[in-house]
Amino acid sequence: MPILSNASTLSKYMKLNQNGLVQAEFIWVDGFNQLRSKTKTLASKPFGPKDIADWHCSGASTGQAYVHDSDITLHPVAIYPDPFRQGDNILVLCETYDSDEAPLETNYRHRCNKTMQNYAKEDPWFGIEQEYTLVEPESKRPYGWPTFGYPEPQGMYYCGIGTGRIFGRDLIEAHYRACLYAGIKIAGVNVEVAPSQFEYQIGPCGGISMGDELWVARFLLERLAEDFGVAVSLHPKPVVEGDWNGAGCHTNYSTAAMRQDGGMCVMEEAIDKMGDRHYEHLQEYGEFNELRLIGSHETGHIDAFSYGIENRGASIRIPRQVAKDGKGYMEDRRPASNIDPYRVTRIIVESTLNPSPF
Ligand code: ADP
Ligand code: MN
Ligand code: MN
Ligand code: MN
Ligand code: MN
Repeated sequence: MPILSNASTLSKYMKLNQNGLVQAEFIWVDGFNQLRSKTKTLASKPFGPKDIADWHCSGASTGQAYVHDSDITLHPVAIYPDPFRQGDNILVLCETYDSDEAPLETNYRHRCNKTMQNYAKEDPWFGIEQEYTLVEPESKRPYGWPTFGYPEPQGMYYCGIGTGRIFGRDLIEAHYRACLYAGIKIAGVNVEVAPSQFEYQIGPCGGISMGDELWVARFLLERLAEDFGVAVSLHPKPVVEGDWNGAGCHTNYSTAAMRQDGGMCVMEEAIDKMGDRHYEHLQEYGEFNELRLIGSHETGHIDAFSYGIENRGASIRIPRQVAKDGKGYMEDRRPASNIDPYRVTRIIVESTLNPSPF
């Protein structure tokens, strides 16, 4: 696939004076759980999202409205420094509404935010481990895999180093810095178990900011991938045949009470409540997740809720150090790589903190 890109030529124009005007990249989640974005000129640099007027787009082209009534509203909710255009330019994360100011069906942030506000006193924190696969844009085969046959079996790739083990290190490096520049709380990165599979962690983030920051981190990765001519797949099982790990979004979770002495008991009660609503949770935990939650390849089986200390084959894992300390956080290993984090964080809080869920 030809790439229309000439970094040195472009950099000449990116240095041109903007005459005090600001470029704002509006970002939103569409009707297919994918990101969209478009750019608008602002007269000056805003202090926060409230200083930025709502904008519009055609929902008919984003899977969010019918052609005969297509306008949808992009409502700014958070801003970040833009690592691509830099300077005063910004990224503007938006929620989506219809012309009657009602949240769109696919505006999962709206519902999540309500829940987070209801339980703000409990101070829920999250850390999400986003696993993903780099793929060839045309064939959709994992990047760097041989055209015929398969790469060497799994075993040497996880946190691996060296030619033949790592495919795409530059993109991972660029993404890390872009996140730091944008003020995204990236906690770390690692190369994963399957060749061309990677992970970055975002968190700990409080309440609604978990979903916000993960979506912006995804935006940065997608945009950077364009520069490198490679594609990002969030499919939870990109290669179904053979001995290849799937991709998840382990969601680490704690509340103020879980982080304090005696937190272990609070966590056990919370895990119990999550187990009672296992199938309800799975509804929110991503598409094609049944291909991944098969009880092998470091997953718990989709039909058996379980938890354990340092057990990577369980639905919920308590990290060893947390068990030793008797407080801290738990890891829900069920969510797939393609989740909407607003849906996942909302149901976890709703299940564990609602005093009477039934
Ligand atoms: P793993 O051992 O499962 O690979 P990682 O180191 O990849 O774990 O990810 C752990 C995640 O847990 C990080 O994103 C971190 O921000 C998050 N985390 C740490 N402490 C807490 C906490 N108290 N509450 C919620 N999340 C936390
Ligand atoms: Mn137009
Ligand atoms: Mn991890
Ligand atoms: Mn991982
Ligand atoms: Mn994990």
